[in-house]
Amino acid sequence: MANTLHDALFLPLAGRGRALLILPDGREISGAAFLDMVYAAAAALVAAGVQPGDRVAVQVVKSPEALALYGGTIVAGAVFLPLNTAYTPAELDYFLGNAKPAVFVCDPARAAALAPVAARHAAQLLTLDGAGGGSLAAAMAAAPAKRMVPVPRSPEDLAAILYTSGTTGRSKGAMLTHGNLLSNAEVLAGLWRFTAEDMLLHALPIFHTHGLFVASNVSLLTGGAMIFLPGFETETVLRLLPRATAMMGVPTFYTRLLDDDRLTRELAAPMRLFVSGSAPLLAETHREFEARTGHRILERYGMTETNMNTSNPYEGERRAGTVGMPLPGVELRIMSEGREVAPGEVGVIEVRGPNVFRGYWQMPEKTREELREDGWFITGDLGLRDADGYVAIVGRAKDLVITGGYNVYPKEVEMALDEAPGVLESAVIGVPHPDFGEAVFAVLARARDAEPDVTAILAGLGERLARFKQPKAAVVVDELPRNTMGKVQKAILRETYRDWFRTT
Ligand code: AMP
Repeated sequence: MANTLHDALFLPLAGRGRALLILPDGREISGAAFLDMVYAAAAALVAAGVQPGDRVAVQVVKSPEALALYGGTIVAGAVFLPLNTAYTPAELDYFLGNAKPAVFVCDPARAAALAPVAARHAAQLLTLDGAGGGSLAAAMAAAPAKRMVPVPRSPEDLAAILYTSGTTGRSKGAMLTHGNLLSNAEVLAGLWRFTAEDMLLHALPIFHTHGLFVASNVSLLTGGAMIFLPGFETETVLRLLPRATAMMGVPTFYTRLLDDDRLTRELAAPMRLFVSGSAPLLAETHREFEARTGHRILERYGMTETNMNTSNPYEGERRAGTVGMPLPGVELRIMSEGREVAPGEVGVIEVRGPNVFRGYWQMPEKTREELREDGWFITGDLGLRDADGYVAIVGRAKDLVITGGYNVYPKEVEMALDEAPGVLESAVIGVPHPDFGEAVFAVLARARDAEPDVTAILAGLGERLARFKQPKAAVVVDELPRNTMGKVQKAILRETYRDWFRTT
C-alpha cells in the first residue's frame, strides 16, 4: 500500500551514497543515511505510542534529525505539527490544547519548563537538540534495524498542521494533506527546473511552509542536495554560496547579503536561481541585487494555507514588485463586492486548486468564513493583476487604511516614501483619529547613518499622492519590527502609535 509523501520524497533516497545534506562544519549525510534516520524516527514515534492520524508537535532547532522527524512522522502515518522556536510556554499551552498531540518534542533545555504543559494536554514529552542529543535521538539510535513498513496514506490524508502566524486573533491550524504538499512540490520543481544536479542553500527555518515544504520538498522530490544551515548567517552563507546552485530566501536574506561588499558577480556566478517570498521584496532590492550579481531574483507568493500560488517565470520577464502568474493548476481571481475586478483594479485575492488546504483544525466556523464551499480560498491579501497577467500584492486586507471614508492601500504610499532621501523602507498604517476615523501614519526606517527630514518628505508627497493618501504624521525609527520570516509586524506598529493623535 502506498504512502504518498513517503513514496515520492523519502523512498527514492534508498541506496543513495551521494550526500543529501551538507552541514556548515563540512559534515555530509548521504541520502541512504538520512533515510535510516527517517525510519528510526518513525520507529521511535511508534514506540512512544503514536498512532496513524495522531499529531506530533515539534518545537526544536533546525537539524538533520529535525528534518528526519518530519519524514518519520509521515512514515508513521501521523500529522507533523512544527512550531516556531520563539513560542513561549503560554503560547505552547494554546497550541497543545488545540491540537491535542500524542507526542510533543522540545529542546532538552526547555523540557523542565514545558513538562507541565505537555502533561496538561496528555502529550508524551520527548526531547531533541540541535546536535543530535535528547530522548528522541536516543530512541532513534535504539530503533530496530528492521525498517517499519510505512503506514498507508493516500493524497487525501492529512500530512501536517501548520499554525498561521496569527497577527490578529488566535493562530489557526491549517490542515494540509499529502496531496496538497506533493502537488505543489511537483509544480514548483518543474517550473523552477530543479534536478538531481541542484545544490540548494537552505537557511530558512523548517517550522514554516517556506523552509519545510517549498525548499525541502522540492529538493527531496528532485533528488538534489541541500546545504543545510541552522539559520541565516551572512558569513556562512557567503562562504558556502559558491557551492550552491539555488537559494530560497525571505527578502531580509537579500538585503543582508547586499549589505556586504563580498557579495559580487563572481561569488554568485555558479548560482542559477535565487527565489524570494514570504514577504514583499522591495523593487529596489530586486534592482540592486541584479546590478551587483547579474541575477534577477524570482519572486513568488504563497501562504501557510495554500502552499505556493503564483510565481514569476523561470524564463521570461521576472517583474520586480510583482509575484508573477498563478502556478499551473492553480486558479486565481481578484474579487471586490462579490465579483471579479477588471485588470489593474485592486481586490481580495482568492485561489483554488490542489494546493489549497482542507480547513482549520477544530475551527469549522473559521473554515467556513475563509474557504468557500466551491473550493475558493479567500486569502485576505489585496492585489491586482496587470494587463500582462502579473499579480502584484498591495497588502493584507486587514492593513487597508480607511480615512475619512476613503480607502488607502499602504503599499502605494510606502512605495513613494521608500524613494525619499534617507529612507531605507517604510510601513504605512492606520491609527485612530478624531476627525478621520483613521489617519494614514508612516513609520520610516532610516537608511544607514541618515537623518530623514520628515517635514520635507511629507511635503514632497504632494506631487505624487492625492491629499487623503498622504500621511498625517510620520516617525523615524532605526528598523521596522519583523517576525522570523521577515514580515513587518504592522499590528505592533498600530499598537505602538495607537494614541498618536490623542496625545499630540
Ligand atoms: P505565511 O502564512 O506566514 O506564509 O504568510 C503568508 C502571507 O505572507 C501572505 O498571505 C502574504 O500576505 C505574505 N506574502 C507571502 N509571499 C509574499 C510576497 N512574495 N509578496 C508579498 N507578500 C507575500
